[in-house]
Amino acid sequence: MSLHVNIITLFPEMFPSTLGQSLSGKALERGDWSYTCINPRDFAKDVHKTVDDTPYGGGAGMVMRPDVLEKALLSIKDTGQKLYLSPRGKTLKQQQVKNLSQSDTITLLCGRYEGVDQRFLDAHDFTELSIGDYVLSGGEPAAIILMDACIRLLPGVMGNENTADEESFANGLLEYPHYTRPAEWLDSQGNMHKVPEVLTSGNHANIDKWRKEQSLELTKKVRPDLLEE
Ligand code: SAM
Repeated sequence: MSLHVNIITLFPEMFPSTLGQSLSGKALERGDWSYTCINPRDFAKDVHKTVDDTPYGGGAGMVMRPDVLEKALLSIKDTGQKLYLSPRGKTLKQQQVKNLSQSDTITLLCGRYEGVDQRFLDAHDFTELSIGDYVLSGGEPAAIILMDACIRLLPGVMGNENTADEESFANGLLEYPHYTRPAEWLDSQGNMHKVPEVLTSGNHANIDKWRKEQSLELTKKVRPDLLEE
């Protein structure tokens, strides 16, 4: 099983970016995932390679043209699900990441300027997807975040297949805190910090119970909205 990502972007040189490093970089070399960048500018018909124009109705900024974007889209043989990275979309959640990571192919549209002509999004059934309630200058960093989250879930990428099941959001909770060696750590201010005793007890039932409690406490404190969901 491998994932192919078509990325419609005016800045193909922004890929693979961080995805070419570490686990996702190795997975890319192995062929666990692959990507193709499609640059709308290659489909602009005028000498200036224009991909945007001023908004009807007035207002600031420029809007990406539907005719040029459509040519770029139609050049893709198999698009799979089409997603437009956009602050107007529903916020990306781990369950959706999981579903997307099981796709053969997805197509990501990275907006620039003020965004994309609405008619193009409607005509080609794009789902808008946000990575959070803030505005980026372009969809490329959002696409990289979405891809990173999907790639690490591909079989074999993380090494330990169980890791993802225990992580934050997998069961609707934030993950419990982690500790490693040394068991007793003296910080630079002279304070001694000990690892919670239960973790060195070797009693796995107690460790599981403690972790579940910690998970719940942390979620209540930091993200009570997750418990409501
Ligand atoms: N005028 C748009 C608005 O107010 O909703 C913002 C346009 S933004 C400057 C340019 C592009 O960045 C968008 O078309 C989108 O592709 C991308 N973008 C910005 N914020 C994003 C977010 N939170 N999630 C996903 N993509 C985002």
